[in-house]
Amino acid sequence: MSWFEGNVIATTNLVESLVLPDYGRLVYMTTATGPIDLTGKFVPTRRKPPVHWMDLTPEQRVEVVRSAGLPSFRAKQISNQWFTRLDPDPSSWTDLPAGLRDRVQQSWFPLMLNPVSEQFADHGATIKTAWRAFDGAIIESVIMRYRDRTTICISSEAGCGMACPFCATGQGGLQRNLTASEIVWQVHDAARRLASGELPGGPGHVNNIVFMGMGEPMANYRAVMAAVRQIHAPNPDGLGISARSLTISTVGMVPRMRQLIDENLPVTLAVSLHAPDDELRDELVPLNRHFDVDAVLDAAWDYASATKRRVSIEYILIKQINDQAWRADLLAKRLKARGDWGWFHVNLIPLNPTPGSKWTASHPKDERAFVEHLERAGVPVTIRATRGRDIDGACGQLAANLDSRVTS
Ligand code: SAH
Repeated sequence: MSWFEGNVIATTNLVESLVLPDYGRLVYMTTATGPIDLTGKFVPTRRKPPVHWMDLTPEQRVEVVRSAGLPSFRAKQISNQWFTRLDPDPSSWTDLPAGLRDRVQQSWFPLMLNPVSEQFADHGATIKTAWRAFDGAIIESVIMRYRDRTTICISSEAGCGMACPFCATGQGGLQRNLTASEIVWQVHDAARRLASGELPGGPGHVNNIVFMGMGEPMANYRAVMAAVRQIHAPNPDGLGISARSLTISTVGMVPRMRQLIDENLPVTLAVSLHAPDDELRDELVPLNRHFDVDAVLDAAWDYASATKRRVSIEYILIKQINDQAWRADLLAKRLKARGDWGWFHVNLIPLNPTPGSKWTASHPKDERAFVEHLERAGVPVTIRATRGRDIDGACGQLAANLDSRVTS
């Protein structure tokens, strides 16, 4: 039985019923690594995703071009088409000889993610895309357009292994890590669609990228760092988006937070704290049993002091679970104990409901009291405006439970 047999299902209708760019209609592609199935249900496989141009460093691109018997300047031309012009279709790269374009596509430009559904909210300003990878794994990304900027929220893993009980992604466990190209694909696609003006709101570009979609970015550190470099590298080697516009959000994988300091990249670090005391945090963020509040805050402080970048402390407000005024006081105390030179900023997130959860968002009066207690203690605090709730596109709602819909 071939590896994808029994794994091909009737999703073509769904795919074709959407208005997708041409490459989105490709159901199979043949690549250097063999046929890839972009339609099937996720089946755990040892097979690795195909290698894409975006998985290679600029040096490796020159190497592969040379070993394919091509002059090395082709590497720059190819990168220029992909990263600078954002043209995803090698058959239209007219600076390459016609006979070469097919080969280039088949060798280095497999379709990494196939868009299988698109949902709009907030009058078109929030767009959630579900993507299917070569093995059927589904991930989601969200584009949020504001008057003066566009933020995209991307996934670093299919599923998530952190098992936070309030988060929809955490309920299904981890399917697998994404590769660098699967991560950058989400950014490339958003950048291209924004530049071409095909999205509601007219032409624009990506201003902010937050790793707050599915997955724990620090648990897929290598691929995330490779992706960050591609996003950050100036054209034509990368997308040329300033690392300052990047936020990596973590549940508090302390060794990786420390490793990030050494990368010397001006990315913003966000820490999902959600409780100032270990007793509650052990329950809300199970990784706390390995890296407790003190360890996480120490690492966050070290990151801030080494990079001079303010760390964002994320705190979901859950009714009668973590929203008591005394917890606001304790949070302020523990943050300020490490210094009060503007190294942190607290970002409160009203809980977004997830299916089957007994928890709800805080009562407005408790939310106000929580904010007041923080402010009184001199803690800079904002409440995150929620986007995309009605399409399950808000923080913690990305579940990608599309499998059941497309297979039924
Ligand atoms: N694993 C990383 C990144 C993904 S989650 C992390 O946890 O930081 C991005 C943010 O959404 C985190 O702050 C997370 O705690 C928050 N979040 C998760 N579930 C949520 C929910 N149901 N409502 C509101 N925010 C949620």
